[in-house]
Amino acid sequence: MTKNIFLLGSTGSIGETTLKILKKDKKNFQIKLLTTYSNVEKVYRQALLFNVKTVVIFNKKKYLKNYRKFKSKKIKIFPTIEEAFRFNKKKSYLTINAISGIDGLEPSLKIIKYSNNFAIANKESIICGWKFLKKELLKNKTRFIPLDSEHFSIWSLLKNEKKQNIKKIYLTASGGPFLNFKLNKIKNIKPEYALKHPNWKMGKKISIDSATMMNKIFEVVEAKKIFNLDDKQIEILIHPQSYIHAIVNFNNGLTKLLAHDTTMEVPIANAIYLKSEMCDFKNNYFNYDLLNGLNFIKPDLAKFPLLNILKYKFNNTYLEVILVSLNDALVKKYLDNKISYLSIHTLIIKLLKKPYFSKFYLLKPKNINDVKIMVQRVNHYIDEYLDK
Ligand code: NDP
Ligand code: MG
Repeated sequence: MTKNIFLLGSTGSIGETTLKILKKDKKNFQIKLLTTYSNVEKVYRQALLFNVKTVVIFNKKKYLKNYRKFKSKKIKIFPTIEEAFRFNKKKSYLTINAISGIDGLEPSLKIIKYSNNFAIANKESIICGWKFLKKELLKNKTRFIPLDSEHFSIWSLLKNEKKQNIKKIYLTASGGPFLNFKLNKIKNIKPEYALKHPNWKMGKKISIDSATMMNKIFEVVEAKKIFNLDDKQIEILIHPQSYIHAIVNFNNGLTKLLAHDTTMEVPIANAIYLKSEMCDFKNNYFNYDLLNGLNFIKPDLAKFPLLNILKYKFNNTYLEVILVSLNDALVKKYLDNKISYLSIHTLIIKLLKKPYFSKFYLLKPKNINDVKIMVQRVNHYIDEYLDK
């Protein structure tokens, strides 16, 4: 019997990698839902190629403008997840959330009840809304699979292990394109260079986050939430080859490492084939040559000053929402050539200290609306601050 898949963010890097895997196995998997923000042409081609009859276009203007185009091919389009499920509530075998940024949280919260298994690459939604996501997952008995490669690795290494046995988890970081540069030498570096990640091919936003190391800050917070770890149980190690994705050190003296090729195809394919014997991955060799030359070093705070942010306490308060939204907004400004590379760093550190934001660090959002209001507050503030 074919298994149904819902794919949120199908037009992005993770979305396309997922489709590449599913294209080879149309016999066993049928995609029932695709989504885009505004990439109408791409999602249209994807829907035709995979014979998908339901598409969500989150951008309202594009949704309204393209209604007829899709209708002529008997594809139903909707502006939200809720609308898409109004008349058809059939659950997926697996839902994948590959949306980027904090806007991925609401679609996750709306679609979990229609999903038997739920895999999230969208780390921003885990960081800002883990409490809400967990509640929905438990309520609907939906199985959760982290897709971020480090978290998928930890998740795999922790299978059949007791939490009390974990001593420490090391998250590896490639160091990005500027590992060997002093920050003041690259303070005005243009986005085209910051986007050139040495090992991974990813969407624009996460590529900049990898260069500034914000991605690893997010991943530490993400791991603490998913695996319920305290601050001392997690550390970052720079590992330029990106072959080892996570290291788990146990109290019993054993340490497990998980290695795989530097491609998101591995965690995605393993999530898709979670319960079957069919995941015969093409890059399934063990690269001992590479293993012979691996390096692991502690990150240099002078090169990556944003790592100081990890001194804040991340306890599901507004801090997470403010940090993620500040970064979302500033990375966008940088990609639009409105601020310098250095300013991403200086502004985030400076703005986080402003009482306008810090007075919220002990308060917790109660629901998704609280989160949305704070995101708007941050965006308005940044626009006004930069206009001054
Ligand atoms: P991309 O930018 O390549 O793709 C993002 C997807 O989300 C697109 O389909 C985009 O639609 C959609 N989208 C963007 N904004 C919105 C919005 N406001 N509402 C609804 N949909 C939206 O991102 P990536 O694929 O690189 O990353 C996706 C997520 O996975 C991120 O959270 C990232 O941190 C995480 N991740 C990515 C990895 C990678 O290798 N790429 C590795 C590990 C985690 P449109 O095309 O219309 O813009
Ligand atoms: Mg990662």
